[in-house]
Amino acid sequence: MSFTLPDSARDWQDRIRRFVEAELIPWEVEAEMNGGEIPPDIAARHERMALDLGLSRIDAPRAHGGLALPILDQVAIAEQTGRVTNALAWCCGEAQSWMFEACSPDQIDRFILPLMRGERHFCTAVTEAGAGSDVDDIATTARRDGDHYVIDGEKWHVTSANLADTVIVQAKIQGGAADGSHALFFVGLPAAGLSTLRTPAYTHTYRHHHPILRFDGVRVPAADRIGAEGQGMGFIHAWFRRERLMIAARCCGAAERLIEAATEFAAGRAIGGEPMARFQLVQAMLADSLAELHAARLVTYEAAEAHDRGLDVKALHARCSIAKLLASEMAGRVADRAVQIFGGRGYMRENVAERFSRELRVDRIWEGTSEIQRLIIAGSLLKRGLAGTIGP
Ligand SMILES: Cc1cc2nc3c(=O)[nH]c(=O)nc-3n(C[C@H](O)[C@H](O)[C@H](O)COP(=O)(O)OP(=O)(O)OC[C@H]3O[C@@H](n4cnc5c(N)ncnc54)[C@H](O)[C@@H]3O)c2cc1C
Repeated sequence: MSFTLPDSARDWQDRIRRFVEAELIPWEVEAEMNGGEIPPDIAARHERMALDLGLSRIDAPRAHGGLALPILDQVAIAEQTGRVTNALAWCCGEAQSWMFEACSPDQIDRFILPLMRGERHFCTAVTEAGAGSDVDDIATTARRDGDHYVIDGEKWHVTSANLADTVIVQAKIQGGAADGSHALFFVGLPAAGLSTLRTPAYTHTYRHHHPILRFDGVRVPAADRIGAEGQGMGFIHAWFRRERLMIAARCCGAAERLIEAATEFAAGRAIGGEPMARFQLVQAMLADSLAELHAARLVTYEAAEAHDRGLDVKALHARCSIAKLLASEMAGRVADRAVQIFGGRGYMRENVAERFSRELRVDRIWEGTSEIQRLIIAGSLLKRGLAGTIGP
């Protein structure tokens, strides 16, 4: 493998970097001080610009108007959006390639293409109070009733539900030949029987909330089931693989910005007449951060390249977990050191290190906690061996 990004990835990197620096980063402090909100016309402008850049289409097939970018190019994009705090880079939805395999032509027309055009906004409801790491334990049920399903259950942490018009919900089929198996459904919002139980406050300051949703006898047309009964878990795994790599990339982007900011501050702040950057204890924090970022980024690029060259899906699953584990843990350490280098300023919410020190924490939790990534990696080592997991 080569460790130089191809020209196409570099082009994307430059384009998205310009968007992020000129349009998104200038609104971070305003968002932080206003519960995550920025003026609606600015949010709308960000969405329009993101759609014009093609960000809703990067993973979609060309046959459907997508850009079908290599995963390595997508990782280069995610690294740049990862530089932004307050989720301001979540400007538009994103159609993922698995959706085109899973959805019927009618669903693609009604849900996925509007998502790509910015006319629909999705959220996803998988986790429950008693089922997060072990998704198989979900208690939400979908019972067939004529040409409908009836969905009952409670879903937690449903990110962006306050801004969405469509929820993808995972439920267990109740009754029939596929009893107990998983399936995914599109549910249009609002829906009769679907309510928000409450909207808890979280550590970060985002306009995207994570409410608890209650499904009480929500009737969903059978035509809105995604794929067949029993296929739900397979789709979720495809989703996890890509999303874990994108989280790794975003963590690398965040760490890069933090190292740049901390280095600039250390060079400019004089203590006892000397720039802080001359102090070797400060240099050690910068050096450790840079070395760890370099390693995590290479692993992330390598996993993306393995994805693009069609590595066996089971080995790939472990490689994506390795990238997420390394990059998310690395970014947490880098953010903590950056706060330390900034001193008291690093504890102020107007400071990027303060915001990232809170925001990056969730990357060790969502899309599979660090412990779950370790279990996947160890499982692959025990089944496929060392060479079968990371190559000879
Ligand atoms: C901000 C935020 C946004 C989210 N957005 C969404 C969303 O949009 N949609 C959605 O469906 N979900 C969402 N989630 C849920 C997220 O994916 C889960 O929180 C995550 O998968 C962990 O599940 P859990 O919270 O139930 O923790 P648990 O599964 O209860 O785990 C608790 C602890 O036990 C550990 N643990 C669990 N099993 C094992 C094991 N076998 N061995 C060792 N340790 C173990 C975990 O690592 C963790 O440390 C979101 C969560 C957050 C915080």
